[in-house]
Amino acid sequence: MNLIIFGPPGAGKGTQADFIVNRYNLYQLSTGSVLRNEIKKKTALGKEIESIINAGSLVSDDIVKKLVETFISNQDYKNKIIFDGYPRNLNQAHNLNELLNKYDQKIDLVLKLSVSLETIKKRILQRQTIENRDDDSEEIAIKRYKTYEKSTEPVIEYYKKLNLLKVIDGERSIEQINKEISDIISFI
Ligand code: AMP
Repeated sequence: MNLIIFGPPGAGKGTQADFIVNRYNLYQLSTGSVLRNEIKKKTALGKEIESIINAGSLVSDDIVKKLVETFISNQDYKNKIIFDGYPRNLNQAHNLNELLNKYDQKIDLVLKLSVSLETIKKRILQRQTIENRDDDSEEIAIKRYKTYEKSTEPVIEYYKKLNLLKVIDGERSIEQINKEISDIISFI
């Protein structure tokens, strides 16, 4: 089973992805953490993308496609991937299709965590005190939310038309959300 989890920044995607990974023995591809790692390691790519990420903008589709291909092409992860933070726009969704076809795989389920902007602001400010991410200020949080609405909502629509989408109320407790996700996955 390959699945995608969507939700605005601060929706709890990471937490739920961890839960799914552990429970179903999947591998998480979080493009955000892969990119942040490149910055930490001060690689050439890291230096190129640091200012983009810190401004809350999206890294180029081609850069992200290469990182995603490295992951999808790994036989150890075949049909065991949870995509977190990818695809973020329609072009990336098309790139993902192309890569999945190339490596003889498909998406089985798409989850969307639905959360209001008010909740997002609160959670991001909370996370800032814990993780100290440079892109977690209120201003950048709002920008990332707006980018999500503009670029990622059309991608979600795309998966809805393919009948792969399940929408989850992300305002509830972590445990309630875990339970709903398990129920959905048990039907696949
Ligand atoms: P995230 O951890 O998913 O919130 O991502 C943090 C930041 O990494 C985003 O604001 C973007 O700058 C960058 N990023 C993560 N995933 C992608 C992607 N699929 N396409 C472009 N940029 C991305």
